[in-house]
Amino acid sequence: MTKHTLPKAYDFKATESRIYEMWEKGGYFKPWNDPNQPDFDPSVKPFVISIPPPNVTGELHLGHAMFVSMEDLMIRYQRMKGVPTLWVPGSDHAGIATQLMVERNLLRTEEVTREELGREEFVRRTWEWKKKYGSMITNQIRRLGASCDWDRERFTLDDGLSVAVREAFVHLYEKGLIYRGPRLINWSPGLKTAVSDLEVEYSEEDATLYYFKYMLKDSEEYIPVATIRPETILGDTAVAVHPEDERFQKYIGQQVIVPMLGREIPVIADEYVSREFGTGALKVTPGHDPNDYAIAERHNLPIISMLDNAARVNENGGPYAGLDRFEARKKLWDDMKAAGLVLKTEPYHTTIPRSQRGGEIIEPMISTQWFVKMDSLAAAGLEAVKDGRIKIVPERFAKVYYNWLENIQDWCISRQLWWGHRIPVWYCDECGQQSAAREDPTACAHCGSREIHQDPDVLDTWFSSGLWPFSTLGWPEETPDYKYFYPTSIMETGYDILFFWVARMIMDGLEFTGQVPFHTVYLHGLIRDENGKKMSKTSGNVIDPLTVMDELGTDALRFTLLVGATPGNDMNLSLKKVEANRNFANKVWNATRFIIAGIDTLQAGPSADPAWTLADSWIWARLQQLVRDVERLFQNFQYGEAGRQIYDFFWSDFADWYLEIAKLQLNQGDARAFYTAQTLARVLDTSLRLLHPFTPFVTEELWGHLRQTVLDSPLKDLAADWPEALIVAPWPEPHGEEGWEAGKTADFVLIQDAVRAIRNLRAEQNVQPARRIPAILVGGDQSNTLQEQSAVIAALAGLDEQNLEFHKTLAEKPEGSVALVVGAVEIFLPLAGMVDLAEEQARLQKELAEAESQIARLEKLLSSDFATKAPEQVVQKEREKLAAFQETAEKIRAQLQG
Ligand SMILES: [Zn+2]
Repeated sequence: MTKHTLPKAYDFKATESRIYEMWEKGGYFKPWNDPNQPDFDPSVKPFVISIPPPNVTGELHLGHAMFVSMEDLMIRYQRMKGVPTLWVPGSDHAGIATQLMVERNLLRTEEVTREELGREEFVRRTWEWKKKYGSMITNQIRRLGASCDWDRERFTLDDGLSVAVREAFVHLYEKGLIYRGPRLINWSPGLKTAVSDLEVEYSEEDATLYYFKYMLKDSEEYIPVATIRPETILGDTAVAVHPEDERFQKYIGQQVIVPMLGREIPVIADEYVSREFGTGALKVTPGHDPNDYAIAERHNLPIISMLDNAARVNENGGPYAGLDRFEARKKLWDDMKAAGLVLKTEPYHTTIPRSQRGGEIIEPMISTQWFVKMDSLAAAGLEAVKDGRIKIVPERFAKVYYNWLENIQDWCISRQLWWGHRIPVWYCDECGQQSAAREDPTACAHCGSREIHQDPDVLDTWFSSGLWPFSTLGWPEETPDYKYFYPTSIMETGYDILFFWVARMIMDGLEFTGQVPFHTVYLHGLIRDENGKKMSKTSGNVIDPLTVMDELGTDALRFTLLVGATPGNDMNLSLKKVEANRNFANKVWNATRFIIAGIDTLQAGPSADPAWTLADSWIWARLQQLVRDVERLFQNFQYGEAGRQIYDFFWSDFADWYLEIAKLQLNQGDARAFYTAQTLARVLDTSLRLLHPFTPFVTEELWGHLRQTVLDSPLKDLAADWPEALIVAPWPEPHGEEGWEAGKTADFVLIQDAVRAIRNLRAEQNVQPARRIPAILVGGDQSNTLQEQSAVIAALAGLDEQNLEFHKTLAEKPEGSVALVVGAVEIFLPLAGMVDLAEEQARLQKELAEAESQIARLEKLLSSDFATKAPEQVVQKEREKLAAFQETAEKIRAQLQG
């Protein structure tokens, strides 16, 4: 017979890459039902996830590790259930991030700027960079065990997706939903482009509040005004006061003079003004402030832009033209001081918008940009969630989603960058008209002139990622993939990009495909450090997933992330937790090693068919309960709780209890050994299947060993229908209870309680572990059960099996014994001489107090509303507990008196 040995320790480093290669080469990541294959069956419903595409410049962080682990779990679970699964991978071209990185590289290595290279050459260099380094992030995602179909990998700038972007733009343009015009946007003076809200970070900073005089025209009177950005005075077009503010009412409708420029602007009344803030009067700079912009729209005020693209004062700033915004602030303030227009300054704490990429202060600016009208798109997006076509998990985020879509602004989609999808609009130098086109035109669509030029801007990265679920499947072509795999099943991502990405995909999906892009949105929380603090480079508390995988293994990291996660809630991550889960992987390894050795000792098939032992029945009942619970939890997206329950079952029930008893049973040889080995193999097989979506590597490796060992053993029939790899092994099917489970479980729990009580006492009394002691067990109705399990009790509690006595009742307490009470069972251990009697009395007193407090608690509970409102079964359980404690207390009191 072949001997199978498992190495003593789990070498995850060598195993992970070997297993991943085996999976990929085996084609397991591909859907078994493929519309491009001849035996395709369109009636089988697939399960599809599109990966949130990481930035092509990205380096793996815990956010990636989280969504990859979670989505891989969902995909593996469905795959094992026999569903054709497709997980579409890919990456995002990440306009700003990539362009900046390549620019900095060029400057460092060749001392050349992007402008010096020219647009065409710069874009060519960026593609070169992408070809060289673009697979770094996807390789890191592979290391996490991601079972994506890599043959279907996409990139937001590849040819197919570019066609999709072009189609989407022209579709919206022709429908009148895209327009170009001057609007207030977030401007990054460092990058010289419009940026999205996501690229703006708000930081709490110390600033200065400047108080000054707005002089009334032809008067010595003034209105005091305060601002934190005095340079924007150059762009003021009104001073606003609250209509009911008695201090300023008399000035409404009058003119005031812009300091140093001498322009006349009106004093207006608007309820937006807060009477309590600053001086109660507000300078209105619609060209550089979103709230002022709204006021200007209400009052038809002119809008003056006083900064250029680099945030220098432009020609509207009179004598300050050409100065940087901060130089202008200082100079203007000095001049105002000299002119007697200054009141005071004071320190002020406020929120400053800064560029996420460059760190400079973002300037709200009026700029001519391309916009998408959002009203009709947003209405459709709202409807799809309200009517239940899309379900958001957890549900509370639906409100946040509604709120955002109900208050949505038009979307600025143009960026002043070179790396991205260029806006497909051409301007005619001859007739001045513009046209959007699906194919690059050679002549003006209006007058036929060949003097046309394309808009220089590119589209916001989110424009292409909004199309991701369908563009990756071939849309706008009606490809077989698109027809079969779209709409996708679940969109799984962090709640922080619900708006930026998820909402856009929903709106785009409805607009372009007429369908919701996915049926469920599952939002996971963010990962914080062990103290709940946000991880950041400046705090130095960032955990690098690559290092963690190197040191503790991928399975340990995945299990920690998955078990720590509850839908929508942030989680705290510590390396201690990952270490504990590394230990769990080792525990599974060691248990399997023991079981494989056990199976290997089987000589032949059994000569008889003995009944299951109590332990066999119990572990089987526990396993079936676990399978039912895990299924229910998975259906409710409670993956973390499911993982915890599998962990507890494996570590405690299976490894700590059943395995210890199985050792005894295996030693009995013949049929008992055969059936014990069979139970071990079956429980281990099911456990590994349940664990596989959480910890795919160690389970695949162990299951392969288990399968081979079983196939080479007298147990071989058991594995007859096991496939060649765990990744495609059927998911354990839940079965209902058969009726015997409760009784067997209760009996086994009694044995466990007795063993624990004896172990505790031995530990308290410092009895040597190897010392086998006699015992008398008085079990009442349960004395038969105890007697049947005498070998188990003796082995696990360190008793001398030849010196065990079992009684239904005992008239008198044995001399010189210490008594333990476990429910209705009394255990007497003859520890005379080894035990301090006073201490023993104290111990019993303590136990009595504990029992009495439990009795008080349960009596209170059972006399409350609980007894009438909770389900009958639950109430009954509590009643049984109360009865057991009452019996225990009774017995202890008798002990104390005796
Ligand atoms: Zn023309």
